[in-house]
Amino acid sequence: MVQQLESAYKIMHEHDVIVVGAGGAGLRAAVAADEAGADVALVSKLHPVRSHTGAAEGGINAALRDGDSWESHAYDTMKGSDYLGDAPAIETLCQDSPGEVVQLENWGMAFSRDDDGRMSQRPFGGLSFPRTTYAGAETGHHLLHTLYEQVVKRGIQVYDEWYVTRLAVTDHDDPEERECRGVVAYELQTGELDAFAARNGVILATGGPGQVYDHTTNAVANTGDGPAMAYRAGVPLEDMEFVQFHPTTLPSTGVLITEGVRGEGGILYNAEGERFMFEGGYANNVGELASRDVVARAELTEIQEGRGIEDDYVHLDMRHLGEERIVDRLENIVHLSEDFEGVDPLEKPMPVKPGQHYQMGGIEVSENGETCIAGLYAAGECACVSVHGSNRLGGNALPELIVFGARAGRHAAGEEMEPASVATGPSAGIDTADVDTPVSPGALGPDEREAVADGRPTEADGSRASDGDARADGGAVAVAAGETVERALEAERRRVDRLLNGDGDRRHAEIRSKLQKAMTRNVNVFRNEEGLKQALRDVRAAREAYADVGVSDPSSTFNTDLIHTIETRNLIDLAEAITLSALARTEFRGAHWREGYQERDDENWIRHTMLSWNEGTPELYYTPVDLQGENEEYEPQIRSY
Ligand SMILES: Cc1cc2nc3c(=O)[nH]c(=O)nc-3n(C[C@H](O)[C@H](O)[C@H](O)COP(=O)(O)OP(=O)(O)OC[C@H]3O[C@@H](n4cnc5c(N)ncnc54)[C@H](O)[C@@H]3O)c2cc1C
Repeated sequence: MVQQLESAYKIMHEHDVIVVGAGGAGLRAAVAADEAGADVALVSKLHPVRSHTGAAEGGINAALRDGDSWESHAYDTMKGSDYLGDAPAIETLCQDSPGEVVQLENWGMAFSRDDDGRMSQRPFGGLSFPRTTYAGAETGHHLLHTLYEQVVKRGIQVYDEWYVTRLAVTDHDDPEERECRGVVAYELQTGELDAFAARNGVILATGGPGQVYDHTTNAVANTGDGPAMAYRAGVPLEDMEFVQFHPTTLPSTGVLITEGVRGEGGILYNAEGERFMFEGGYANNVGELASRDVVARAELTEIQEGRGIEDDYVHLDMRHLGEERIVDRLENIVHLSEDFEGVDPLEKPMPVKPGQHYQMGGIEVSENGETCIAGLYAAGECACVSVHGSNRLGGNALPELIVFGARAGRHAAGEEMEPASVATGPSAGIDTADVDTPVSPGALGPDEREAVADGRPTEADGSRASDGDARADGGAVAVAAGETVERALEAERRRVDRLLNGDGDRRHAEIRSKLQKAMTRNVNVFRNEEGLKQALRDVRAAREAYADVGVSDPSSTFNTDLIHTIETRNLIDLAEAITLSALARTEFRGAHWREGYQERDDENWIRHTMLSWNEGTPELYYTPVDLQGENEEYEPQIRSY
């Protein structure tokens, strides 16, 4: 732990714990770290209540009622994950979620209520009990505001509209020996880059990378900055091939229509007026309430076989629920459908089709939020702990934010906790994968490396820190920590200067748009080898174009051109990670459907995919899935609904 940062290196900001991101995970982590006695700062590129958690509609899963149990929630989650979630993490999620939900209620969150005053719960896909606790169809909005109130009440320092561009990580060759000492961030209002030193730790809570795709429920700010920075700093990305495509998004914008509509009784129809989830035999027992991957594939099969409406979408009808119930429980959906699609769902069925929604994979972490780099944590959608495995159940992301956000916050603050049972880092790997790729992924020539250098300090940008041996005594650590952060700041100044004043003439918008289209075309619900290889070629082309990128707006006030250019680099790295991981996995599991491999292959593939940046030449390896629970070992079964 770094006690004091002094010496020749003047650090602008210094806190015990720095939380990057102020959505549900970041806010919960900050409150927990504050409660554990740490001096905490939240650094966020958006104002906290503009974070994408605010868009969450349907609810939070928690076993709160008689007749339900955490064991049943854990069983549903493991089955939903298609036996790729880790049992200790899943059980922690299901055991801790009820307490966290009650904590939110005590902090004043306005949950919907039944007539008897209890918090309402609704059915959701893949759940064997109606355990999705909600606040109308605006659950995330209420959650975000409730947590932000706690941050304000506690006087936690918030640096909003500060964009974190780089982690300050020591330069040891072995990623497992590296330490994270802080971050570098760019203030949007002034155009200043500053260093933030962390005495204890940095928690990444930067949300999902939905902007890798062009039809997504995610906001424009969801560019996967945290996973990209952690990856380049040496932390493996886990199970990136598993991308959730939500079955009910509005066709023209990707805006989400919550699963709560089907939970309340909404019905899906094809162009021939058939209730295809039953009549097509996709889910004979639960129909529309099958798991999301199952419903998304069913819709696309209907569309591809000519039973879609305008060859593009299907219908979601909730008119039979009646206006009173719709307005009581789903009012927000009426507005979304009217405003974004021009359809009044009280009068007509809503057009819907699958769209990118959630990233099951992410930064590899333990149940305490630790990565393999000391002092670097992650929580929320940017992390993979892993509770969702190959498919997330609806209503399981919000409890993940609060359960694992709180744990990461407490651990980073130095609270005594049980050691985590999920091992992290390359030394936990079991074997490496040799994948036949059409291009050399990630590998950069010297010029490109210079142009896009990021992550930990490199020799190429002259910012390599020399503090490898300095950790033996406290005084040396203090100096070295300051040096690491300061050098990261210098490297980042050079990068931003290059982007603003260099001679690059390619624009981020063109590169990003081509990348998004390529991913939507070939790394979508249905995948095949040739398509994935084409996507890798397209990612490579984006990487080459990016080596020539430049920013046309010279201003230092709210320069979104610069921010989007930096974000685009992150999208390229994550697009490649998703595609490479998908190409390597030759089976059909959860959200990952592969032509030519139509079976779940438990013998060879109950293992997590890990991708290491490996200095720009990604390396794939695997780690075992832990199916051993507290009371029982989860036995993989056929996943039917
Ligand atoms: C439309 C929609 C509806 C959903 N509904 C539900 C639901 O009903 N139930 C459920 O369980 N799940 C739902 N989900 C999923 C769930 O809402 C998300 O997974 C979750 O809210 C993500 O929270 P987060 O805290 O990880 O990230 P976010 O809420 O996205 O917050 C990310 C934060 O990181 C900051 N940030 C990002 N990059 C940087 C950077 N470089 N520097 C500084 N700050 C940065 C942002 O400013 C932001 O504050 C839904 C998702 C969507 C898209």
